[in-house]
Amino acid sequence: MDLKSGYPYWAVDNGLMHAFPALDADHRCDVVVVGGGITGALIADELAGHGHDVAVVEQRDVGWGSTAASTALLQYEIDTHLIDLAKRYGEDDAALAYRACADAIGMLHDKAREVRDVDFARNPSLYYASRRRDVPVLRAEFEARVRHGFDIAWLPHAAVRERFGFDAPAALLSRLGARVDPYRFAYRLLMRLEKRGTAVFDRTTIDAIQATARGVTLETVDGLQLRARHVVLAAGYANQRWLKAGVARNRSSYAFITDPLAPGALGPLADTLVWESARPYLYLRSTGDGRLLVGGEDDGIDVPARRDARVEKKARTLLKKVQGLWPDLALQPAFSWAGTFAETADGLPFFGPHPDSGPRVHFAMAYGGNGITYSMLGAGLLRAGIERKRHPLAALFGFRRLDR
Ligand SMILES: Cc1cc2nc3c(=O)[nH]c(=O)nc-3n(C[C@H](O)[C@H](O)[C@H](O)COP(=O)(O)OP(=O)(O)OC[C@H]3O[C@@H](n4cnc5c(N)ncnc54)[C@H](O)[C@@H]3O)c2cc1C
Repeated sequence: MDLKSGYPYWAVDNGLMHAFPALDADHRCDVVVVGGGITGALIADELAGHGHDVAVVEQRDVGWGSTAASTALLQYEIDTHLIDLAKRYGEDDAALAYRACADAIGMLHDKAREVRDVDFARNPSLYYASRRRDVPVLRAEFEARVRHGFDIAWLPHAAVRERFGFDAPAALLSRLGARVDPYRFAYRLLMRLEKRGTAVFDRTTIDAIQATARGVTLETVDGLQLRARHVVLAAGYANQRWLKAGVARNRSSYAFITDPLAPGALGPLADTLVWESARPYLYLRSTGDGRLLVGGEDDGIDVPARRDARVEKKARTLLKKVQGLWPDLALQPAFSWAGTFAETADGLPFFGPHPDSGPRVHFAMAYGGNGITYSMLGAGLLRAGIERKRHPLAALFGFRRLDR
């Protein structure tokens, strides 16, 4: 599947950072991770770091899936409000999901520090009410987050104007948030893994998977076999081909990035993640070299050619929206692109075995606008599953929640 269009800035900026070999003979290990995006990289890192013999298999060059298209705002605030999750699953589970995502920011920071040079920065996150009628919901969300101990501030209209230079009826300001170069992050994790002895194969496509009570056998399109005790399917949106019933719908999101702006030009936007209560939402962040990255205008298009045809128009709409908020900010898109992402009904991911596929086939579906945060949590969750240990998120982030 073609997951992005135009030229996603990360892949253009970084190029092919390293050549991994293609699989050229049958291979045996403890765990095969299918997919060399940020999810596969974080999971392989977690497993290999805890003594598992892992092989990562990627059909193209690593990082070229939706990871290359991601705008990579790292937020604990998921697309579904805590108060809405609480209505579905109860306040305890809603708070558990939010708290876990908050922990994931620190975990991602630690990983970024270890591999270095991935343009990771801590940034607060500003969530503004797009319309006056969204204010009561924002207020209820604020109160719920305060009740659960999150470090969050309520900004009335005047404070938003004074601190961030635009007009919104109100906003929530969370201290906890970050940004990263997701493509570079995936590459550097996989390069470190290879250096430490983990097998990473690119240009190797898995065509079939057979699972028995004792292990799994994966067959490539070239007829080679990988045998392992477990397989982790971190194939992004392509994972859905291995499930009988759909659990998510694919959507497209659009983004543009500017050239580096003059020092100071971005003001508070230089180190703040911004998004809004409207759906689909506008979202923006900066990069370490002073660019502004703007995304949004999501739609239900799932046909690459039709999506690609919309990139320029969508970029113009995004530009107009940002200029509506900050009319004095002179912006010019340098690159614009689109990418496919999947959305679950409740905004939560799926990690773990599916009842139809047996206990040795582990799905890693980091779906939703916070996919990277989920991937970090999924790494620990799947390791616990493979080591037959309990994990507090296993029920809520697993397929079992569909039975509730
Ligand atoms: C435009 C856009 C903006 C986004 N913004 C954010 C954001 O701000 N914050 C955030 O947290 N998340 C965001 N996301 C979501 C985030 O990017 C994804 O959750 C994340 O990149 C998914 O990574 P992945 O490794 O699971 O999937 P991918 O990066 O798609 O990796 C899966 C890999 O599996 C490979 N593969 C597939 N099938 C096979 C096979 N049969 N054999 C071998 N390999 C195979 C693919 O080639 C691919 O490289 C955004 C996504 C998009 C598209």
